[in-house]
Amino acid sequence: MATLRVAAKTAAAPMKAAQISQPGADFEIVEREVPEPEAGQVRIKVQACGVCHSDVLTKEGAWPGIQYPRVPGHEVAGILDELGEGVSAWKKGQRVGVGWHGGHDGTCRECRRGDFRNCRNQKIAGISYDGGYQQYMVAPAEALVAIPDSLKDTEAAPLLCAGITTYNALRHSGALPGDLVAVQGIGGLGHLGIQFANRFGCKVAAIGRGPENATLAKKLGANVFIDSKATNPAQALQELGGARVILATAPNSKAMSELIDGLGPNGELMVIGATFDPIEVTPVQLINGSRTIQGWAAGTPADSEDTLRFAELSGVRPMIETYPLDKAAEAYARMMSGHAQFRVVLAMGS
Ligand SMILES: [Zn+2]
Ligand SMILES: [Zn+2]
Repeated sequence: MATLRVAAKTAAAPMKAAQISQPGADFEIVEREVPEPEAGQVRIKVQACGVCHSDVLTKEGAWPGIQYPRVPGHEVAGILDELGEGVSAWKKGQRVGVGWHGGHDGTCRECRRGDFRNCRNQKIAGISYDGGYQQYMVAPAEALVAIPDSLKDTEAAPLLCAGITTYNALRHSGALPGDLVAVQGIGGLGHLGIQFANRFGCKVAAIGRGPENATLAKKLGANVFIDSKATNPAQALQELGGARVILATAPNSKAMSELIDGLGPNGELMVIGATFDPIEVTPVQLINGSRTIQGWAAGTPADSEDTLRFAELSGVRPMIETYPLDKAAEAYARMMSGHAQFRVVLAMGS
């Protein structure tokens, strides 16, 4: 009997998780049993998980229908630890990640058209199910992203949300090599957007508040730095010929509205900085020059693999600050402060 008890205890070994027990509650570090994958799912030994501003949705309960307690985290990098029944395309021990796109049903109208990104029943890691702020997590196999060997876990993790969002928005924006691309905001998204636009061969104008950002923006690949505190950024963009694309990354609708007049003919304001405040624009602003405003949300796991492959080829890397899982609350507060340079990442080994 004693042997049996020991065996049972080993099978149900506890692990650490940083959970939110109810909307608005603080993080608590709890012990949980290591979860078992069901059919079509896998278990990941989490090595790193990015702390994203969208985790506020789980922390504060701003996303409808979240069941608590919930473990946030949708920028996960780790090792495939266990395969559920019917999972054949992946191998145990393989390096994998999970991003914002945490699963799709494969049967809704959008999925049947191959538009998995807009699945009507899309799942989101850390919202629909427990995410990466824990030592082991379970995810649907269709959410998995293969991670190339040359990328560290802490570098790959933020690329699965902030990276794919900027990369995918830019590659679908219509900006071609040589075009003027403005990146509004030099933060978690913007510092990656500048790098991607530069590697795409675009002329990059980085728009930041205050001259202290100029050196870094240029180091990341900006050709021009526009200080929005000192100059009118729309006018500055017009002096450069007008932007083909403005990648709006800072969640500030007023700043986005003020940039629209910086668009050139057929220019596009590509909105990825999420806020609930309205963008203000007149029909005439859009009609003159046939300008458009478009929003963009992340992408599929295949898009994530494209992002990682491109980062590997081009040397695009996130700038990160790492924290151990035990300090999830501190890491989250650092991300929320807006002072992190630039992505905060929980590193499980630290
Ligand atoms: Zn995110
Ligand atoms: Zn679907």
